[in-house]
This record gives sequence, C-alpha cells and structure tokens, in this order.
Amino acid sequence: MVVGRINNALIAEDILQKGSADVTVMGRALLADPELPNKAKAGRFDDIAPCTACSLGCIGEQTKMRPMTCVVNPMLGREKETELTPAATRKRVLVVGGGPGGLEAARLAAARGHDVTLCEKSAKLGDSSTSRSSLRRSKKSRYGSNTSRGKRRRPASISSSIPR
Ligand code: SF4
Repeated sequence: MVVGRINNALIAEDILQKGSADVTVMGRALLADPELPNKAKAGRFDDIAPCTACSLGCIGEQTKMRPMTCVVNPMLGREKETELTPAATRKRVLVVGGGPGGLEAARLAAARGHDVTLCEKSAKLGDSSTSRSSLRRSKKSRYGSNTSRGKRRRPASISSSIPR
C-alpha cells in the first residue's frame, strides 16, 4: 500500500501497473474532486478537478482548528447546502473574468442549465490557482495537476474580450 501526494488517477494506475504497490491511497485528491474514481473509471480524465497539492484549505485550515476547505472545491464540507438544482428559468449569464472565482461561477451556472458566456481579457484561464499549482509542482512534486481545469469548468462559450 502506498500513500502520499497521489493526486492523479493515471499516476495511481501507473504505480499499480509497475507492481510498485498493490493498493494506492488518495486523500486530498478526493477532497478536490470526490467524483475522481467515477470519472477515471469512465475515462473522463479531462473532467477531473485536480488537487494542486497546495494544502492551503485542507491541512492548512485544520492546523488552525477551522473546518476544512479546498481551493478547487468550494463545496467541500457544504455539499448539502450547496446541492445543485436545475434553474427554474433558463437565463443567459455573462461571467466577466476567468480567474478561479469566475470559472467556478460559470461552471455552476452552466450546471444549473443556464446559457453561460465567460469573458476573460487574457488568453489564460484560472490564473492564480494555476500559478500556485505550477509553483508547487516545480518546487516539490512531479505529481502536478493535469490540464483538466479548463475543460471541467468550461461554460458554453468563452470570449477573450468583453463584448461591447
Ligand atoms: S486545498 Fe489544495 S491540497 Fe487541499 S485538497 Fe484542495 S487542492 Fe488539494
């Protein structure tokens, strides 16, 4: 059995295939995306929200004796109160800004059935958490996040400039 920073289903599978362990254990990866096993089983790797191994919301909050959170899963620990329901009326929704907050707002609105357009002035989405992830990855781990963030959170359309 092996445990520790296994935050990618393909890496877990690689460990098993190489015979390095009989069982792999995931912790934080499942906080970031509790549906990871089901998505991986279905081959939907691009839909998995990757744990960035930042330890900010999970371990960091616990060390302060506060409820656990997650920088990529704002519903962690609040699943019941944040349960998604279909919108009573489908609306056109414009989200301005493709940072983590904007991406999540767009994803949730799209998941509720709204017609969502996300506008971001730069060519890159999810800047701050992506940068943090890259920093952590380059310093500490080869088990970095994959490129799934954009796909998982992609709304109906994305514009690189604000429409006039
Ligand atoms: S807070 Fe960071 S390390 Fe903890 S589960 Fe979320 S993404 Fe992973």
